[in-house]
Amino acid sequence: MKIDVGLKERIKSTEIKLNGKFKIDGKVLNTIPIKIFMEGEKLYLKDLKSERTEIETKREKIEIIPLNKDSFFSTKLLIGKNFHWEREIISNFRGEILILKFKNNFTLINRIDLEEYVKGVISSEMNPNAPLEYLKLHSIISRNFAYRKILKKKMGRESYFKIWKNGETYEVIGWYGSDEHTDFHLCADDHCQRYHGFPEDKKVYEKISRAVEDTKNLLLFFEDEICDTRFSKCCGGFTEEFKTAWDDVSVKYLLVKQDSLKKKKFKNILELLSDEDFFCNIHVEKYKNFFKNFDILEKNFFRWREEIPLSLVEENLKKLFQIDVGRILNVKIVERGKGFRVKKLYIEGEKCCVNIGKELLIRRVLSKTHLKSSLFEIEKIKGNKLYIYGGGWGHGVGLCQIGSIKMVSLGFSFKDILKHYYPGTILKRVGTDLN
Ligand SMILES: [Zn+2]
Ligand SMILES: [Zn+2]
Repeated sequence: MKIDVGLKERIKSTEIKLNGKFKIDGKVLNTIPIKIFMEGEKLYLKDLKSERTEIETKREKIEIIPLNKDSFFSTKLLIGKNFHWEREIISNFRGEILILKFKNNFTLINRIDLEEYVKGVISSEMNPNAPLEYLKLHSIISRNFAYRKILKKKMGRESYFKIWKNGETYEVIGWYGSDEHTDFHLCADDHCQRYHGFPEDKKVYEKISRAVEDTKNLLLFFEDEICDTRFSKCCGGFTEEFKTAWDDVSVKYLLVKQDSLKKKKFKNILELLSDEDFFCNIHVEKYKNFFKNFDILEKNFFRWREEIPLSLVEENLKKLFQIDVGRILNVKIVERGKGFRVKKLYIEGEKCCVNIGKELLIRRVLSKTHLKSSLFEIEKIKGNKLYIYGGGWGHGVGLCQIGSIKMVSLGFSFKDILKHYYPGTILKRVGTDLN
């Protein structure tokens, strides 16, 4: 099965370097830098070495096909768009180049075998020095994600946002998912999943290849449905059910799950936060080889405290929702998900009041960027500050990455880990004709 990955969307010009032999319109090109650009409604492809124009066309689709196994192409890729690690890198890609021409711009696509694509994702998302079992686990998660995108599977409304007035109180509700692309199946950035090509280092490529080949065509199913393998960084002790973060649909395998093998009952969030005996309570330093360098910046995520200036919350309400509550008088938690995460937050201001949901909007309102998670309790409001105590990092739905790191190091297999975080699911090896 092949997958179309969007590398650059609706652009006017780009450069790529062909390494090895490629074929365009019956012509063979061998290891040359080329420039692809628009002039008016025509697309040009120029050999930068000989300054020769190889193609001049108004066609809507151009294919550049590698002629041998080792042929690859390189291009500059903007990664981490709008995140603090945003930068440009030169990436190498295998497979075909597909150029979709529109009226006066074009989209650059890498059409590649799905299993090769998964190798690219694993080497972009994971540290290849992580244990093989961990790389296998993520191969399955990434493959499931890609399959769902190809099959255009959705879980209710992917993204949603609404503000309305209920008497004197504003109601704000919203969530964000990865909405579909129109020109290709997935993009190459964090919006879908990171795909920065394949690694140059041969040893790294071999290790990644082993993890992907050992799990070849393995997909996680719940009954007849390919699972939505959502994951977050650290659940803080309990995973959360799907509808606390996204649309109100019940997903039978994205449930509240204690991140340990114990079956302890917790009456409330403070009891949960005072317990430290969970898989995701680790010393990051000890597990350094599991992480990519830019993922390790934050160390205190299992339990944390924040002092939030109320003036910041007032500003955020104006900036995000155009609601001026005046001076904030009180902040209360109105509703929690089954896994104790805050689902609705009430803010009382001098001028008006507002209810906010769901978890991501709450995290944005209470921070300059994002609060680590919505698994928190309000300790007090004092001196124009809100004091909160919380746990975990991310939405908490599905697999807990930090927890699974610990499970791998304790000797659990990737199968055990998938069963733990996605209860009731089974692994099936499928043919490639799932369409
Ligand atoms: Zn995307
Ligand atoms: Zn966890």
